[in-house]
Amino acid sequence: MPAARFIGDLNAEASLATLSGVGPALREKLAARGLATLQDLWLHLPRSYEDRTTLTAIRDLRPGEPAQVEGQVEAVERGFRYRPLLRVAISDASRATLVLRFFHFRAQQVAQFAVGARVRVFGTPRPGQQGLEIVHPSYRILAAGEHPLGEALDPVYPAIEGVGPASLRKLIGQALQRLPDETTLELLPQAWLRQQGLPSLRAAILLLHAPPPDADVAALQNGLHPAQRRLALEELLAHQLGLRRQRLALQAEGARALRGDERLVETLLAQLPFQLTGAQRRVYAQVRDDLRQPRPMLRLVQGDVGSGKTVVAAMAALLALADGRQAALMAPTELLAEQHCNNLRAWLEPLGIRVCWLAGKVTGKARKQALAEVASGAAQLIVGTHALMQEGVEFHDLALAIVDEQHRFGVHQRLALRDKGRGGVPHQLVMTATPIPRTLAMSAYADLDVSAIDELPPGRTPVTTVALSDQRRAELIERIRIACAEGRQAYWVCTLIDDSDEIQAQAAQTTFEALQDALPALRIGLVHGRQKATEKQATMLAFKGGELDLLVATTVIEVGVDVPNASLMVIENAERLGLAQLHQLRGRVGRGRAASSCVLLYQSPLGQIARQRLDTLRQTNDGFAIAEKDLQLRGPGELLGTRQTGLAGFRIADLVRDADLLPQVHALADTLLRDAPELADRIVDRWIGGAARYAAA
Ligand code: ADP
Ligand code: MG
Repeated sequence: MPAARFIGDLNAEASLATLSGVGPALREKLAARGLATLQDLWLHLPRSYEDRTTLTAIRDLRPGEPAQVEGQVEAVERGFRYRPLLRVAISDASRATLVLRFFHFRAQQVAQFAVGARVRVFGTPRPGQQGLEIVHPSYRILAAGEHPLGEALDPVYPAIEGVGPASLRKLIGQALQRLPDETTLELLPQAWLRQQGLPSLRAAILLLHAPPPDADVAALQNGLHPAQRRLALEELLAHQLGLRRQRLALQAEGARALRGDERLVETLLAQLPFQLTGAQRRVYAQVRDDLRQPRPMLRLVQGDVGSGKTVVAAMAALLALADGRQAALMAPTELLAEQHCNNLRAWLEPLGIRVCWLAGKVTGKARKQALAEVASGAAQLIVGTHALMQEGVEFHDLALAIVDEQHRFGVHQRLALRDKGRGGVPHQLVMTATPIPRTLAMSAYADLDVSAIDELPPGRTPVTTVALSDQRRAELIERIRIACAEGRQAYWVCTLIDDSDEIQAQAAQTTFEALQDALPALRIGLVHGRQKATEKQATMLAFKGGELDLLVATTVIEVGVDVPNASLMVIENAERLGLAQLHQLRGRVGRGRAASSCVLLYQSPLGQIARQRLDTLRQTNDGFAIAEKDLQLRGPGELLGTRQTGLAGFRIADLVRDADLLPQVHALADTLLRDAPELADRIVDRWIGGAARYAAA
């Protein structure tokens, strides 16, 4: 490798302390925004641009369009109408007048605006009381003489607390001085870039910090300029390579292939009261084929709520057990884990299989015994929560780890499992009911193979969804009274943005009491996250057994709760929840034969986006369509959760805007991993901060 490469990289990694004027205090402020190296500043791109390369005649100004004008001060008015006010009228050779309006100003500023002074102003004009005006424009008083116009568009950087825009610009200017030459900086193949018509990295960075006057400003503002696309592409590529590399590393460790003996599976199927759907059959076959390979399976199974993922998981587990090995199933909450445990016991114990329950609340002697069974291999299928992955749980011979409802789990939890296998990494099956749009799945889960159970079992009645203003609460309560009198059961879900169990529990408690007052004839229960597991369990069982008419709950019931007779659901504050979550909640009804409905209760007035979201839910029951819409409306960060994927941490790329780049990204990732793995590593290092971040995750 040429030595110049190293110099380039050293520059990129150089601390900001090497810039002049950067002391510890400033460094700290920059670090608070994640800016630590020269490269961080190169990639701290403007959020918009101001065109000061031309002057516009005041007469030609248009409301809403930013422009630069130059004129003479005609009149100055200082007043106090409710609050301090400074109005400065300027005019130019076009004989039109523009008003500059200030609400905050110093005495010194007032003095500057002497009548007759020449002033150059940049801002966005709006219609005012007398013609156009600009509120708080940026401006400069011009002394006599020549004042050349800007030669490039002015970058407007995302603000950094405690660092003024002028200092930030200077710093970035300094950092750019130390941008290595073209070949040193470039990591993507030159020929490929030429073929794609994309600029070099150096050219792209320089252009974005100081676009020439003839640059396509609209494209720049929308993030669609070739220079921006070039950077987004490299960033997406780095992310893709990082995940793929991680997957390769895991697969290199190898796993013991299962024989794929299907006798137990067949016995289970013969006992089930239903036939598998085509989709279940197809996905099971994919899983079985994966398990027959001598490298760890890494498969994500997506399936809408109620699509029947659990039985597929059970079938996969049976393939492990048939070889005399163990399988584990983990769920994000105890409630869900317990329900899985009950279902699996009902299916598998008749086959003579020992299902072991292991969760955080299993303590003392019971825990000791469970752990001993897991370690000796007496326990064949182990069901529980995260606790399964904690220290101290030794498996005898774990062949397959199944993780349900992946969106609650982080990548690191997935990785932690690798240590649990004996004689190789366990195979991993991840199941999620939050379908991920295709584009997102390709980026977020490049380390997993993805299958979809895209068909619901027959006989389900679609849920009718309506949106209702909170002002009609009384009417709704009356409807519930009537429905329950007819023998139907209902959920009332209290949601809050607040993640704290405590506050959610309080809200649910309040609603519970209010509903008890309003509906004295109904048997009402309450579940929330602050209750003891036994208490929650008892209430759920009572509801399931028909001893309660109405269940007031927090979103603890979001996943997995299965009460077929419940056919009505009310979701409070629906406008504040994500579509995926609402869809998930709604999946709790419509599980039986009765026609079901879901009422999305919202606080009016409803914003436009919120209305669109509720409309989407009213119009479709298809989890995949909903996920696509959610992605469009809210972006990937919200959808996936920031911590898990780092996707929301993209500096430049935007998965919605740049989705069309993904095919190129994937093709290039293939080529690089095959032909230039060392280059691939350097691309990952540049954007993701090295292997460290993944390894430590
Ligand atoms: P999810 O995919 O949401 O986890 P479950 O696995 O909990 O769905 O299945 C929902 C319900 O549908 C369960 O009661 C399950 O026994 C039942 N079920 C699963 N597969 C089928 C099928 N092919 N036909 C009928 N019912 C099924
Ligand atoms: Mg499930």
